Parts: sequence; structure tokens; C-alpha cells
Amino acid sequence: MPPDTMTAMVLDRFGGSFRAESRPVPRPGPGEVLVDIDSCGVGLTLEHGRLGLLGGSTPRVLGHELAGQVAVVGPGVRLWAPGDRVTASFYLLCGSCDMCASGRETLCRNNGGFYGLAVDGAFAEQAIVPAHSLVPVPDGVGLREAGLVADAVATPYHVAAQRIGIRPGQHVAVIGAGGGVGVHMLQVARAFGARVIGIERDGAKLAELEKRGLADVLVDSGAPDWSAQVVRAAGGRLTACVDMVSSQETLDGGIDALDAGGTFVVVGHRADTQVRVPSTRLLLGELVVTGNRYATRAEIAASLELVRTGRVEPVIGSVLPLVELDSAFAAIRANEVFGRVVVDCAAPAGAS
Ligand SMILES: [Zn+2]
Repeated sequence: MPPDTMTAMVLDRFGGSFRAESRPVPRPGPGEVLVDIDSCGVGLTLEHGRLGLLGGSTPRVLGHELAGQVAVVGPGVRLWAPGDRVTASFYLLCGSCDMCASGRETLCRNNGGFYGLAVDGAFAEQAIVPAHSLVPVPDGVGLREAGLVADAVATPYHVAAQRIGIRPGQHVAVIGAGGGVGVHMLQVARAFGARVIGIERDGAKLAELEKRGLADVLVDSGAPDWSAQVVRAAGGRLTACVDMVSSQETLDGGIDALDAGGTFVVVGHRADTQVRVPSTRLLLGELVVTGNRYATRAEIAASLELVRTGRVEPVIGSVLPLVELDSAFAAIRANEVFGRVVVDCAAPAGAS
């Protein structure tokens, strides 16, 4: 039997800090499960969520990069049982619209918002999760890694598999390569056979990328001619450029670097910038300009498989206890962590 109360970190108002609260452990309703949360990742998306830029309402328990074990299943839940190791999609999908039914669930017509913003999430010892959002975590993948895989590896997987369709030997550049998603984008692109060019302007992150050998070539985007350097690094054959930053400078420079037939993918979320491509260049070069919205549940499962087989190694820069959630967000804001920050949500042994 689960304990009667749990600790949850509550955001009382957007832009504020988190408050530890002891609250009754919720009971799963029809189609829901209660998950004992092991851990939950923190990235820039969540900082945007904390600021109220992604919708939802307060007071709210944030957190969507979750991993844990099923504790209790609600009425009508047949596919899951207590003890199952799980992570989850953080989109609240309808599961039955034409997009969901045709493998494009990230464009769900009836998307209910983000788990952990529209409903309470996983910065808590236990959390309610829609059963149809769950993805099983295979043996050989730790729960500590699985939660971040469901976002920071699965999103690159969607980029590589669906938005680009990477084939072995192609040159793929990643702008913002030292960020929490970028470090995994490099690895996923390599797992698809690409030669990867990492573009980053933070000196410490460039050094870390170099030390870990995560890119074939590194380019410092602080250099005024960085776009030309990328072209040279690819021998003039840049097949795709993935922009995790989406500043006007990175969008313009990334588009400039593309070879004919190339694909540009916007991943970084910025409200104030524009993708600018001369229409003749688009036409004569058959360029593809696209965006990437998260990943499907099937792609989350595929990403976990890349980790299980050692082709992608999740990069965890820091692990903090649940009650230090403010520090985790501060680290993300300060851009001082290499890889993901993971919050340890597991109830202390013997707690009740
Ligand atoms: Zn749908």
C-alpha cells in the first residue's frame, strides 16, 4: 500500500519559487495510474513553463520528464500493473483525432496542454499520469536516465527520423550543441550514421563537447564567420542544420550554411525571430525548412532502445533532491550545467 501523504513541490504563481507541501496521495481515476516517481528532469522548457509562457494555471506541481514505477492503476486500466517501470509523453493527447491516428500525435487536434502545467506533474513523490501517456522503460535503462530520455533524447529522435530522415554519411550541424537537448541531438544524429558538426558559443561547453568526443567537428558560434566555418567543415555538403537556439543570428547563419537539398529544423522555441530564406534559393536549392514538435510515444520507446544498446548515453550534469527544486531551476537559468539537471523525487527510505 502506498503511504497516505506525499511531498509535492508547488508553484503558487507563475514566475515564483517552489514550496514543499505535504498532501494526500491522489487516487487514480478511470484511465489513470499513480506512479511512484523516481526522478524528473529539468530543462529550459520547464523554465518557460515556470514563467507562465506555456499556458496552464497555478497553483501547480510542475515536472514532465518523469520516470518511476506504477503504484496503483485506476479503473479500466488493463495494460499496466503495479511495479511496471515507466516514463511518459508529456503531451496530453486525445489519442483519437486524425493526427493521433496517423502517427502525427505531436500535432494532436485536441492537445490538452503539457503534463505538469495543465494538470499536476511529477515534482512530487507520487503523481497521477494518464495511462495512455505511459511508455515502458526496458531493463538495462535506469529510471534516473529514462525521464530525460523521454524528452531530451526523444525530441532529437523525431528530428533525425521524421524531420530530416538522416542517412549514413550525411553532414548534420547542431546549433546549441552544448545544451541539454543539443548534447543528445549530436548522439542521436550519429546513431543514424551522420557526421556531426557541433556549434556552440559557450567556451566551457565547447571544451566539454571536445573532451567527450561528442562531435566530429566543433565550431565556436562566437566567431563572426562561424557559418562559413560550418560550410567548410562539411566540405560544402551540409545536409541538415538543427537549431536549438533560434536566435535571429543562428537562424540566418544556419540557413546560409545549408547545401542544395538541405533541411533546416527549428527546435529552439523563440517568439521573436523569423526564418528568412530567399524564395529563389528555396526553389533552386529545393531547401526544406521545418520545425520539430517533441516526439511520439513510439519514438520515446525507440529512444530508450538507443540508450539500452549504448548508442546514446544520457548526459546528466547534476542531480538534486526534490526539496531543492529552486536550485535546479536556477542552474538551468544560469546555463551552467552540461547536460540535463535531474531531480531525485524518490521518497526517503522508511518514509510514510
Ligand atoms: Zn489527437
